[in-house]
Amino acid sequence: MAQIIDGKSLAKKIRENLKKEAEELKKMGIIPHLAVIMVGNNDASKVYVRNKSRACEEVGIEFKEYFLEESIKQEELIELIDKLNKDKKINGILLQSPIPKPLDIQKAFNKIDNIKDVDGFNPYNVGSLCIGQDGFIPCTPLGIMKMFEEYKIEIEGKKVAIIGRSNIVGKPMAQCMLSKNATVTICHSRTKELRKELKDADIIISAVGTRNIVKEDMVKDGVVVIDVGMNRDDKGKLCGDVDFEKVSKKASYITPVPGGVGPMTIAMLLHNVIKATKMQNMIGNN
Ligand code: NAP
Repeated sequence: MAQIIDGKSLAKKIRENLKKEAEELKKMGIIPHLAVIMVGNNDASKVYVRNKSRACEEVGIEFKEYFLEESIKQEELIELIDKLNKDKKINGILLQSPIPKPLDIQKAFNKIDNIKDVDGFNPYNVGSLCIGQDGFIPCTPLGIMKMFEEYKIEIEGKKVAIIGRSNIVGKPMAQCMLSKNATVTICHSRTKELRKELKDADIIISAVGTRNIVKEDMVKDGVVVIDVGMNRDDKGKLCGDVDFEKVSKKASYITPVPGGVGPMTIAMLLHNVIKATKMQNMIGNN
């Protein structure tokens, strides 16, 4: 039976440490500020933004929301980003995805100042991650790396199979694993033999958004399984990509959904906002 990687508890511990850091900053007259931009009326996004707002409040980060109408033009979105880039009070800028078509989200990410890009989605930070230079790493992969660190799970020399190649999870995750000397395979919808790729892996990270895509007969004994997926089961309960009940009997470590990667993603956003605040105020070795 696998050991459960408890993302909820680890995230709580991280938030407590960040709260202390925010208190130290406050003593110096610095209050970290995060600006979140939401475009249109996406119900799921509203929930994510509310959760981020609560987490910021708990830690002592000022949270400012900017709601834009679905009908806005790309230039208006860019204008707001420019304004926030120039605002000395704002330390981090996050553009909540998705945004309505025909707006181009990557073009908007590209405009976020490198040192305020707490999601790590602009090309400068993407490039920094690729060449092993310090910068902002996207929150979900960063949170997963913290889990490996906390549970002392070895990465070097291991075969890692990542399912999903999105810019926010799959690709940066692969870079993070590569930087720790893993041998990485990235699977996606055109991968011919997913089962074969997974069966060979020591570590599987699934970021697809399809329930039960990772089944017990696709994994080897002792595998480490990280489930990023967020889906609903037949009863409407939140679940991941992995058939947790059966796979957990074969795995050595596994993350649950909920209570695994999700809370770590939010904790890493807070981490990145504190890091940005310190960088902008030239504090510590950030
Ligand atoms: P995405 O942009 O939709 O990417 C999904 C990826 O899965 C794509 O690369 C796609 O391949 C691949 N895929 C689809 N069907 C497949 C199949 N049958 N076999 C193999 N690969 C397949 O999604 P995302 O934004 O990365 O998110 C993935 C999941 O993670 C979602 O459920 C999302 O809600 C969740 N998520 C959770 C957190 C968290 O904090 N817990 C954070 C971010 C995302 P192609 O590229 O070929 O289309």
